[in-house]
Formats: sequence, structure tokens, C-alpha cells
Amino acid sequence: MNLDIKTIIFLTAISTLIIGVSMFVTSVNYPQIRGIKKWAYACGLQGAGWILMGLRGSIPDLFSIYLGNVLIIFSAAMFFHSIAQFKTEKTYSYFLITLIGIFSAVFGYFTFIEPHFVVRSILTSSAAAVLAVGCAYLLIFAGGKRPIKSEWVMAIGFITIAFAAVIRCIDLAVYFDDEIHDLFAADIGHSAIFTLFFASILILTYSFTLMINDRFMDEIMRLATLDPLTEIYNRGAMETLVKKEIDRAKRYHLPMSFLLLDLDHFKRVNDTFGHQTGDVTLRKIVSAAAEALREHDTIARFGGEEFTVLLPDTDIASAERVAERIRKMVESTKFKSGTSTFSVTVSIGLATLDRETDDFESLVRRADLGLYKAKQTGRNRTVAVRNRESRGRSGEENGSVSFLSDPTFQLPLEWDKDQAD
Ligand code: GH3
Ligand code: MG
Ligand code: MG
Repeated sequence: MNLDIKTIIFLTAISTLIIGVSMFVTSVNYPQIRGIKKWAYACGLQGAGWILMGLRGSIPDLFSIYLGNVLIIFSAAMFFHSIAQFKTEKTYSYFLITLIGIFSAVFGYFTFIEPHFVVRSILTSSAAAVLAVGCAYLLIFAGGKRPIKSEWVMAIGFITIAFAAVIRCIDLAVYFDDEIHDLFAADIGHSAIFTLFFASILILTYSFTLMINDRFMDEIMRLATLDPLTEIYNRGAMETLVKKEIDRAKRYHLPMSFLLLDLDHFKRVNDTFGHQTGDVTLRKIVSAAAEALREHDTIARFGGEEFTVLLPDTDIASAERVAERIRKMVESTKFKSGTSTFSVTVSIGLATLDRETDDFESLVRRADLGLYKAKQTGRNRTVAVRNRESRGRSGEENGSVSFLSDPTFQLPLEWDKDQAD
């Protein structure tokens, strides 16, 4: 099936321009996302380029051949610029300006001084291939994160374009000396290439919109799960995580521990140095505590100056070591406000999962009991509430606790007696 090339060119131009306008409107609505406006400009340049190329024969060659091709390559560079802006801090402006400069000069030479259709077509195809490969590279490797699905779709789109451009270069090189070259000849090769151009702008823009959508989803998830001050998980996110971990621990018979932390006399920090210093202190404490954690441990803000730590696959002995490491790390961190230096301590309640009876609420309750005991007995200490003994007791005060940071503390022996009955 051979298609009318001029019709395809005009349809491509019109759809590209419409897409450009809609992306421009999107860029105005979402100025916080960088790169959308450049995508709109790229569509505008490409649409204009296709119109000029389509008018070949009706307008001077300067516009249809020279300006048309330069605009198409300028547009490809703008797509690259847009993706770079969207994914990274870099814009690669110097590289792109140099590329466009060299292309315009060499293309001008083979249009006006030494006119040669094949050389010009090879030039345009190779510049397009280089930029398309560059776009695919940015999508897959730039930004320091693994590419998401929409980025893969776009990368595959660009690789297809690059592949088609290389095939065209080879095809042109084979027929290098042929004099008869008609851009609008409706052969199967031309039909396929121009249909690919038409389809690619639709596919590429569709995947770009998906990428924008994914960016918003990321932002929504971030706002929904992270605490804005300390940028660690908030209470809701931690609850979900702990519940999942409880299920996993029960299913695979794994140990699991949970810490509840409360900063000691934190009100004094605010009262003495002001709320802002209090905020800075909270952030620094989170960093100090995070340093004491292992790879799979998660810290979250429970609220105010209280934090929780989830310790998956961790029995009580290891959990005690992690808790003590956190406590010591916080204790040894020095804070500054004006000329004063101060430090903060933390009390920690520790509970280990009882796989038979525990749920999220009972686990937190036991950690809370440990925290209460830690506060009661002088603060700046870790108190572990042992799960087996604490089961079935009537009042929380009766829980069996061990005061890790205070070896002189005696376990409440009455509780052990109760258990023996
Ligand atoms: P305790 O050792 O008994 O826990 O004493 P505390 O002073 O830490 O406990 P209290 O519950 O009386 O006070 C908690 C303080 O934490 C009061 C509040 O101003 C402070 N706080 C809670 N959230 C924030 C916050 O986001 N920023 C700042 N700067 N302070 C906070
Ligand atoms: Mg508190
Ligand atoms: Mg406190």
C-alpha cells in the first residue's frame, strides 16, 4: 500500500502543532514540572518544519529545504533538551547549540554551494539518529533512578526512530550516485518512514504525558507518606509497613521488633532556644538515629517528638543492641544555638513480636509500656518489654521489663511468679 506522502506530511504537521499547543497549556498549568514547555516548543518547531518541507516546490528552496530541515533538527534537539530538563538538572545547552550550528552550516553548504540531495538526507538522518539515541540514553540512564514503564516506552520509541534513520542513511548511501530522488515518491519505503514519523510524535507525547502523571503520583505518595519536617515516614505509612511486616513475620516464622522513642524534656529545648531550633534539632536527631540503623530498619515519626523504628527479622537481643546504639548516638550528638551548645537524650520502649497473639495495636502498646517505664525510671534508657511474660496480664504495670541502660534495675519478680501458676 503506497500512501500519499504530502498528505502524511501535512497530517503530521497539523497533529504535531495541536499537540504542541496542548503541551504548552499543560506547561502553564504545571510550571513546577520542568521540561514540558520545551516539549511544546519542540512540537511547534517540528510542525513548522514539516509544513515547510511539505510545501517544497511551491515555496523557495531556502525555506522548504534549508529551513525545513534545520527546524526538524532544531526540534529534535529541543526534545532532547526537554527530557534532560525533566529528568536531570543538566540541560546540555552547549552540546545542542554546537550540534545545531554544525548541522546548519554543513546542510547550508550542500543546499546552496554544492547542492546534493543524498548528502543532505544523510546529514538530517544522522543528526536525528544521534539525538534520538541521546534521548533514549537520558530516559534509561539519567536521573539516578531506574527507568519507569513510561520512560521505557518513550526510549523504545526513540530507538525505533534512530533505527529507521540509520536504515535510511544506509539506503541513501547505496543509491548515492542516483540522480533521481523525489522526496514525495510514494514508494513503500517512503510511506513507511513518514508513517513512522506520524506515529512517533503521538507515541512519544503520550509516553511523556504518562511520565508527567507518574511524577505527580510520586509527589502525591511522598506527601501522603512522608513527614514534611523530618522527611521520614509518617505515622500512617509506618502503620501500613508494620502491619505488612507482622503478616510476613507470622507467615515465615520470623522474629520482628519495634521501638518507640520519645525525646527527653524536649519542651525545654523549645522553651530555651525557640521552636525553630527545636525543629532543626528534630531533623538532626533523625539523621543521628538513622545512622545507627541497619539497611532494612525503618524509622518514622510517630508524632511530635516521638518516633518509631521497625526492625524486621530481629530478635530481642539484636533489637536491644540497635536501640542502645540509637540512644548513644543521640546522646553524643551536639547541637548549637547561638553561643550555646546542648545535647538531647532519648527514652526507648522496645517490644518484640509475639507471633501467636500480637497485632499492631498490642505491639505498640507494649513498646509504649517500655517507654513509660523508661521515663519513670529516669529517662535516657531503653526498656524492653518481653512478649511471653507480658501476655495475659491484667494491668500494663505488671509487664516484665528489663532496663538495658540501667543494670541496677530489678525485674518485677511477682510477674514471673504469676506466670509459673
Ligand atoms: P518527656 O521527657 O516527658 O517526654 O518531656 P517532653 O518535654 O519531651 O514532653 P512533652 O510531651 O511535655 O513535650 C513535648 C514537646 O515536644 C512539646 C512540643 O513543643 C515539642 N514538639 C513536638 N513537636 C514538635 C515540632 O514539630 N517542632 C518542635 N520544635 N517541637 C515540637
Ligand atoms: Mg512525647
Ligand atoms: Mg518527650
